[in-house]
Amino acid sequence: MKLKAKRIKRHMVRTYEFWQMNLRLLVIAEDQKKLLEDFSAKLPPSDSGYLAFSYLDKDLRIAFLGTVDDESDEYEFFDNKEIVSIPASAVPNLLVRIVKLSEELAENPFIQQVLQEQANNALAMSTLTIRALDSRRDPQQPNRLRAFLVEDEDRINELIELHAMRQSALEEAEEQAAAASKKAKRTKKKDSDHPEEETEEDDEETEEVNEDESLSPQINISDELEKALQELWVYDLTPANNSSWRAVLEADLSGSKLKAGDPVHVDLRFVEQEGEEIALVFVDPEAEVEDVKIEVSSYRATRLPWRKAYELECLANHDFHETYYLGRNGEDSKLFNKIVADIRYGRLDPAMYIDMVQKDDVSMDFSRELYRCRNCGDLHVTRRLRLVTEESSMSEPYYCPKCGERSSQVKRVHIASLNCPECHKPLDMKPEKVWYASEEEDDSILLED
Ligand SMILES: [Zn+2]
Ligand SMILES: [Zn+2]
Repeated sequence: MKLKAKRIKRHMVRTYEFWQMNLRLLVIAEDQKKLLEDFSAKLPPSDSGYLAFSYLDKDLRIAFLGTVDDESDEYEFFDNKEIVSIPASAVPNLLVRIVKLSEELAENPFIQQVLQEQANNALAMSTLTIRALDSRRDPQQPNRLRAFLVEDEDRINELIELHAMRQSALEEAEEQAAAASKKAKRTKKKDSDHPEEETEEDDEETEEVNEDESLSPQINISDELEKALQELWVYDLTPANNSSWRAVLEADLSGSKLKAGDPVHVDLRFVEQEGEEIALVFVDPEAEVEDVKIEVSSYRATRLPWRKAYELECLANHDFHETYYLGRNGEDSKLFNKIVADIRYGRLDPAMYIDMVQKDDVSMDFSRELYRCRNCGDLHVTRRLRLVTEESSMSEPYYCPKCGERSSQVKRVHIASLNCPECHKPLDMKPEKVWYASEEEDDSILLED
């Protein structure tokens, strides 16, 4: 079989972040086998390269699932049930090409098993999407976080306020310096007749502003907190009800009844440092540990998305003929129940779980819509799912079932101007029809006359 992947350059394993590698396939070319020498006794033989799967367990792992030819992209999965898996940290210099998960590849039993394990752990997986926490993670085990113990709340507030004051003073000074350099530039401009040189000067000047030593007080908020507070490790951070967080203690907490493995209340404080947002993790042993229950309702749209069938045909080459049923059949309790089941089994986009757990009055807006792959042009109908809360709404990202790249929604008004995915000639659109879902147990869709 052949990979339908977008061809990208090879990179070393260690240059990828854990979240870029989780649930991805790796193409390991034949010339890389020398880097796998330590494991050669365990690895099944291959005449070409290896097709591997990288996923997050406790640490990031690489499982060898089959063989692949790096040139032709022809691959084959191994038959054996025993899958060899090694820590990614054991092969930091291995050059790999990353391939996104498609429906076809995801059918592999080992991949299915990993997907299920991560879905079972959906709440802890959701916080792995918070990039601001990355500097607090154990580099080997991203689920393990460095935290501070809250003993003296006032002292923490004092330090964070002081940090914020320093940050704004720093920004103000930078703005002033930038304004001064702009002024100096304008004066220079008047005397200059060479516009090319001017751009060069511009660059130099911006650099100067940034490099001015007096403007960067080398103070790090986490270093300061470290000096003032007791550090400890927690793992499996998850969102909890009432906008709170919880995690699990790695070791017994001295001076308290809390033992290793106990859940604790966690506060996250987002602060800015060197232009980047970082999240600080505080364990408050006194505070109540909130529940993690989820309650969602179906969003009551003022106007339901109109349910129409769009029949498209390639009249030029007769290589494409499809009918797409879009919209939603009234309340559509069948589709809503499927979404509820997906929530329960951890099959939604991980980032969505944070809002679902933390906020009250969460509702789900949904309809069937047409999507087009940005890479391979495949057209497919997917449920469009939007999580709506009082303050915000967020949509699930959509991926192409064929190649795994991102898909974009095709707006209804643009459907008539789509080109054939096979031969790229304009498609013919038949007059729109209205559909309705049958009352039967099956999912059949019928057209109205
Ligand atoms: Zn695609
Ligand atoms: Zn065609």
